[in-house]
Amino acid sequence: MTVVYYPPRMSDLKLFNTLTREKETFEPLIPGEVRMYSCGPTVYNHLHIGNMRTFVWGDVLRRYLEWRGLRVKQVMNVTDVEDKIIRNAAAAGQDLQTYTAPFIESFHASLAKLRVRKADAYPRATEYIPQMVALVQQLNDRGHTYTADGSTYFKVSTLDGYGKLSRVEIDETSEYSRIESDEYEKESARDFVLWKAKKDNEPAWMTPIGEGRPGWHLECSAMSMDLLGETFDIHTGAVDLIFPHHENEIAQSEGATGKPFVRYWIHGEHLNIDQQKMSKSLGNIYTVPEIESMGYDLLALRYALLSVPYRTKLNFTTQSLDDAKNALSRIESFLLRVDEVSRSAPHDAKHSDGAADQLIGKFLTDFETAMDDDLNTAGALGALFTLIREGNIAFDEGRILAGDAEGLKTALMKIDPVLDIFPMREANLDAEIDALIEARNAARKARNFAESDRLRDELVSRGIVLEDTPGGTRWRKA
Ligand code: AMP
Ligand code: ZN
Repeated sequence: MTVVYYPPRMSDLKLFNTLTREKETFEPLIPGEVRMYSCGPTVYNHLHIGNMRTFVWGDVLRRYLEWRGLRVKQVMNVTDVEDKIIRNAAAAGQDLQTYTAPFIESFHASLAKLRVRKADAYPRATEYIPQMVALVQQLNDRGHTYTADGSTYFKVSTLDGYGKLSRVEIDETSEYSRIESDEYEKESARDFVLWKAKKDNEPAWMTPIGEGRPGWHLECSAMSMDLLGETFDIHTGAVDLIFPHHENEIAQSEGATGKPFVRYWIHGEHLNIDQQKMSKSLGNIYTVPEIESMGYDLLALRYALLSVPYRTKLNFTTQSLDDAKNALSRIESFLLRVDEVSRSAPHDAKHSDGAADQLIGKFLTDFETAMDDDLNTAGALGALFTLIREGNIAFDEGRILAGDAEGLKTALMKIDPVLDIFPMREANLDAEIDALIEARNAARKARNFAESDRLRDELVSRGIVLEDTPGGTRWRKA
């Protein structure tokens, strides 16, 4: 086995924080541990690849934090009670659970196909009603609410700093009207609904704050603080959520606790189609199964989504999938070439004059520098293609010997857990590991400890580190 020396580098991960409009050095509140909340899907329909773009860079953010040695607890909510869901479920003559079930299922299936690692928890809004009610009561105690027609509203003028995230201007002198719908424009910043009074033919919960249902913004405040604490590190979503959703989450959470809610607000740009936001309401959407039935490998979709940094608009075309496919086959050929040469290595594998070591050192440095710069995935891929181009030249010139090829392979495998875009064997690795972990859990449940130990050993021998947490078993590559 070749040992390649990579000089240690002091480096900082910088992330663009919407709150300050600056790239800031990221440091978690608890050293070594990151608590991260990602706004998840509203399950009134099948998700489109615009939503997937947001989930894919969220996945890469989480993977990169882990790559840098941090433990990440990631929570992604599922909004399963909301205006559009209620309307559609009623039209279909179904209850919320029956109506949303197939969309929740297809959401998870699409994530898995795009190699998005599982979050630690996917709380559903309908399972957190008591926490939401408690939050409204807390806001009530602190004088931030009023009721009208049985609904409870948040009074924005009672909170200093309302508008700090979206920089929405509020005229302090005028009386605000209030708004009941979950989504509204910046121009109409005003008192928003926390708890909606029951209407005819709508699902409702009987609670101490009246019979009704939660507003959308309240759901995320309650679920995130319940699972991650009153102050946590990262909150993600696309830019459309900055106002009113995230502004109102801040108001509810900070209004209730008097503490800072989220330290880094990270927002990604949209996936567009013909320069327009891809959205369910415009109907200009593709779903993951649709892309698959058009004959595309979904790895090409993951690649295309990552080929542009998350804060840059991405105009989706099928050409971008074809380009991604070509890029992936170049990667694949290079991996095969590296593999072939390294496998031909005798035990005393020969090294060249250091040309490969230089390539490797530059590649890893450039990769990390790009990712540290607000997750510049385009730059990270650029570093990879420079390695491939220069590596191929060095192979052609016979300057890469078996021992060097092994070093190259090690370097490529080192970045693999972050972007997860390598074709071939690695493609099935995650699913395989998950299956082994499930088998181990089943063995433990059946108190067959010999078998569960054997499975653990097998995982360890594959370089997998297991962690048993109250929320289940998690794993990472050592
Ligand atoms: P929704 O299901 O509409 O609540 O959206 C789920 C996530 O996808 C949210 O973070 C949205 O901001 C995000 N999103 C919605 N449309 C797009 C788009 N066209 N491009 C990128 N992200 C999007
Ligand atoms: Zn949310």
